Amino acid sequence: PLEIWHIGGPVVKGFGRGSKVLGIPTANLSTKGYSALLSEHPSGVYFGWAGLSTRGVYKMVMNIGWNPYFNNTEKSIEPWLLHEFDGDFYGEELRLVIVGYIRPEANFTSLESLIAKIHEDRRIAERALDTPLYLKYKDDPYLKGSS
Ligand code: ADP
Ligand code: MG
Repeated sequence: PLEIWHIGGPVVKGFGRGSKVLGIPTANLSTKGYSALLSEHPSGVYFGWAGLSTRGVYKMVMNIGWNPYFNNTEKSIEPWLLHEFDGDFYGEELRLVIVGYIRPEANFTSLESLIAKIHEDRRIAERALDTPLYLKYKDDPYLKGSS
C-alpha cells in the first residue's frame, strides 16, 4: 500500500557537510514535532516533492536517519532538492510530500561509495517521480505552504 506523508518547516542549519564534503546539499528540517512520525518510519532514503514557499515545487530525494558514516547521534531529515539554485535558502518554509521509499540506511566503507549510492538514489527518484503514480502529488496543495 502506498502511504503518503507530509512534513514541513523552516530550513535549518545542519553540520554543513552535505555540500562541502559530498557535493550534495541537503536542506535540513527540524525534527521537533516529528519524533512520533520519524519513529514510525524506518531510517533510509525516500523520495517525493519539495515546495519552497517563494520559489516553486521540485523533485527531491531524502535521507532520514542517523547518517552512520558520520556517526550522528540524532536523527535528521535531509532532502536534496533536485534543482540548481543560485544560493542558500536557510529560514525559508519548506514543505515535503514523501511518496516513496528507495532503501534502508546503510553504512559505507568509503566516501566515494556513499556518493555513488546517493547519485544512484537520485536517478531512481528522478525516474519514479516522472511516472503518473507519483507525478500527481506535485499538485498537492500542502506544497504551496499556506495550509
Ligand atoms: P547544512 O548542513 O547546513 O544543511 P548543507 O551543506 O547540507 O548544509 O547545505 C544545505 C543548504 O544549501 C540548504 O539549507 C540550502 O540553503 C542550500 N541549498 C542550495 N541548493 C540546494 C539543493 N539543491 N538542495 C538542498 N539544499 C540546497
Ligand atoms: Mg544539510
